[in-house]
Amino acid sequence: MNAEILAIGSELLTPERVDTNSLYLTQKLNEIGVEVVGKAVVGDDRARLTAAVEQARTRVPLLILSGGLGPTEDDVTRDAVGVACRRELVFQQEILDAIERRFRAFNRPMAEINRRQAYVLEGAEALPNDRGTAPGQWLADEAGVVILLPGPPSELKPMFERECLPRLRQVVPPRYIVTIILRVAGMAESDLDQRISPIYTRYQNPVTTILAAPGDIQVHLRAYGASEPEARVVAEEVSRQIEADLGDRVYTRCGESLEEVVGKMLEARGATLALAESCTGGMLAERITSVPGSSKYFLGGWVTYTNRAKQQWLGVSEQTLAGHGAVSAEAAREMAQAARRAAGSTIGVAVTGVAGPTLDTGAGAGGPKPTGLVYIAVADKEGCEVKERQFLGERERIRLQATQMALDLIRRRLFT
Ligand code: AMP
Ligand code: MG
Repeated sequence: MNAEILAIGSELLTPERVDTNSLYLTQKLNEIGVEVVGKAVVGDDRARLTAAVEQARTRVPLLILSGGLGPTEDDVTRDAVGVACRRELVFQQEILDAIERRFRAFNRPMAEINRRQAYVLEGAEALPNDRGTAPGQWLADEAGVVILLPGPPSELKPMFERECLPRLRQVVPPRYIVTIILRVAGMAESDLDQRISPIYTRYQNPVTTILAAPGDIQVHLRAYGASEPEARVVAEEVSRQIEADLGDRVYTRCGESLEEVVGKMLEARGATLALAESCTGGMLAERITSVPGSSKYFLGGWVTYTNRAKQQWLGVSEQTLAGHGAVSAEAAREMAQAARRAAGSTIGVAVTGVAGPTLDTGAGAGGPKPTGLVYIAVADKEGCEVKERQFLGERERIRLQATQMALDLIRRRLFT
């Protein structure tokens, strides 16, 4: 079944407030196999809201509205839905009694305007609200179901879970959604799509979405089925083909970050890690330590930004810095080996590069280096591997890609 959501409130059209209700509702709806195919934010405007409700109902059998059920003039949801669905609003004494009781419990007098909240669309069921005054409403007619929910998330969530989900389960044909999230390091989005689009375009189920960030691409496969196992089989069928094609470029199939995957591998092998960072200035250490429990494998690191720091703290040789420059394979190798030795870790990793945007003149050391040139070294007891890469883009993007590549090199080193 398809659904649309309307988030109502003029404040949601300003930069101050974000509509979060629709995210929550989408998650809950997906869990019972309802797909949200459209959503909109509508200000507190009777005519616009009436039109939005009328139009949405021609498209989908389930429409959920949040907000605009308060007692004030700008709360127009009840009225607008009444006009759109051709239903009168009927006063219900029991609702007013409940609102009055609520005020009494808080020792406050009830304002006359709260009467507005006791009006229910003809033929609709009122949904009790134990966290606030505005009841929700459930209206089912020949065009489908319309649900009115209060705007405050603290009221909307319990009401949706307690009152709406059980009702929806009765009208929604059982459908389950299984999502597999493959993540791929070190590939350009266009290269990846060229390889895998011949696979996924043959399937409407699962639905495939590709989300790209610098050095990191996520392939989301959302599969539908009448049961969980059935949906899983559908997702797996496509996932297996994509994984076979991309091989070890896929670093996870359950959406984890690269630093989490690397952390798990280090921990599983009882290995430890030390870092020497130059152009990433600690970003790599930041990513690694953002994972809870990273103290089990991460020993520490050096941020050696100047030549002097590289020499003094890591013992990078004068000849290397003078002959090849700080951004060189030689410097990266010496940094990684020194970090490993000084920390006593299984693996030592170094990153040195030109983050830009100003040109590195090289100051006579190995000549000028272009922005985006990065060397990454991974040292272990077998030796030291150094990779050179020319990244494109702005400073932050280059730094981020350098950390991503370093993590990926550690990952690859760990499965050999
Ligand atoms: P209302 O029911 O329209 O009076 O909304 C009351 C309050 O709920 C608003 O001031 C917002 O703080 C919050 N709210 C309303 N709609 C949303 C939404 N879609 N997402 C998050 N918060 C909301
Ligand atoms: Mg409002």
